[in-house]
Amino acid sequence: MSSSASADPSASLAPAEREIILPEARMHIYRPTEPVTARVTRSEICTSRKAAGFTRHLEFDVSGTNLVGQVLPGQSIGVLAPGIDTKGRPHAVRLYSVASPTGGEDGSGTIISTTVKRTIDEHWESHKLFLGVCSNYLCDLNVGDEVKLSGPNGKKFLLPADAASHDYLFFATGTGIAPFRGMVLDLLRKRVNCRVTLVMGSPYSTDLMYDELFRSLAKEHANFRYLTAISRERQSNGSGPMYVQDRITAPDTREELAALLAGPRTLIYVCGIAGMELGIFQKMASVLPAGVLEQYLKADPAAMADIPSWSRKMLHREIKPTKRVFLEVYA
Ligand SMILES: Cc1cc2nc3c(=O)[nH]c(=O)nc-3n(C[C@H](O)[C@H](O)[C@H](O)COP(=O)(O)OP(=O)(O)OC[C@H]3O[C@@H](n4cnc5c(N)ncnc54)[C@H](O)[C@@H]3O)c2cc1C
Repeated sequence: MSSSASADPSASLAPAEREIILPEARMHIYRPTEPVTARVTRSEICTSRKAAGFTRHLEFDVSGTNLVGQVLPGQSIGVLAPGIDTKGRPHAVRLYSVASPTGGEDGSGTIISTTVKRTIDEHWESHKLFLGVCSNYLCDLNVGDEVKLSGPNGKKFLLPADAASHDYLFFATGTGIAPFRGMVLDLLRKRVNCRVTLVMGSPYSTDLMYDELFRSLAKEHANFRYLTAISRERQSNGSGPMYVQDRITAPDTREELAALLAGPRTLIYVCGIAGMELGIFQKMASVLPAGVLEQYLKADPAAMADIPSWSRKMLHREIKPTKRVFLEVYA
């Protein structure tokens, strides 16, 4: 790990400008061309059995490999499905976010996990069944089966080295929950003195992943808040359908989220479906006082004058997240 935030030369800067020091994550220990063999030790549905899709929590034993103890939540691992693609080449590597905490599922870093949603659709042209190669390969695997892994990948979507110096607001949709499972477990197990709020969004409540785990963690840990946002049915308290960003303005959560965001040490992490960050940023820009907003977002005055017209093309140009915002979104 690198030095803590107190040794950071930018410590005298305003919080939004301060460098957030991340741990030094190892990357590409195994390249996709030279993957390592791991073994499946667990495969279980991690939504309600009634969910329309199929999402599994998968654990891999990496003992005897150089991945032991080197895989952090927020990184991803590569999976090489056997077989060849339509062009006769071996299937390209697919990335899957790590769901295990630092030290893995077992504490010694030999069991790592991920969360895989089967890609199932009708083929766009032929309307025949379309099955994604790697997600279905992974979800078909049984305990004891071998799997070829590469990685780890990524070094930017990590908890800070000095995790106890911050509070956290995590937004997840779909399998974007994977890194937050690991990060929440890390933060709560270390019993660090910080506030952790997780907002998990899904179309139906049956699609929520690791719901029981998060509910029991929220009961056990006063510093952990678990909020859900269900977009195609009413919330458990009877209020209307909402997306993750609507939690920022929902009558029952807006005060606590505004207070969390106003804190000088809060960091925002967003993971899931590409584009979800736009709605979160629009909601923040619409309701947060300028002094709080600029801690997380710098937007051109022209953009601020017309928040509803923001588009993904404007992200990182007219609308720039600050160092207090971490994004990992994928299609
Ligand atoms: C950093 C990162 C982290 C990720 N983490 C996770 C994770 O934790 N869990 C997870 O489940 N996924 C994750 N993904 C996505 C994952 O890598 C795969 O893209 C996903 O599982 C689909 O792969 P597949 O091989 O099953 O599907 P593929 O065989 O690759 O098929 C999907 C592709 O086929 C095309 N396609 C889709 N539907 C149709 C259709 N109806 N007709 C014709 N073509 C179609 C699309 O071009 C799509 O890209 C992550 C991706 C990234 C980049």
